[in-house]
Amino acid sequence: MRCSFCNSERVVKAGKRKRKYITKQQWRCLDCKRWFIEHDGFEGMTYPKEVILETLHLYVEGLPLNKIINFMHQHRGYKIYGSRILDWVKKYSALVKTMEKQTKPKIKVGKFMSFSNRRSTNRRNKGS
Ligand SMILES: [Zn+2]
Repeated sequence: MRCSFCNSERVVKAGKRKRKYITKQQWRCLDCKRWFIEHDGFEGMTYPKEVILETLHLYVEGLPLNKIINFMHQHRGYKIYGSRILDWVKKYSALVKTMEKQTKPKIKVGKFMSFSNRRSTNRRNKGS
């Protein structure tokens, strides 16, 4: 772990910081005396990394949004809105692509949707 401000390696654990769903390790830098939170690419998210990853995984497997929402609510106790899931898909699109390569869904829902969206946009542009 390095300091997010001065990149120093002289950092110490300084307790945990709690948010709605996440508890994150807090660090203190001995050089610049500043506080920072462990960085894992999921900073500022209201949900734990595991929840986001599981949701994205279900999405990649081709599960409809309402089923993902139900599953995460009933089995994990998190209320996630469909629009938020789509935000995650956009934000972590590189990760989603990697997941798509690893799993082999029967129907590539995501790809088909973006393809048909692009086509309808083109048609609309030509018309105007
Ligand atoms: Zn520092």
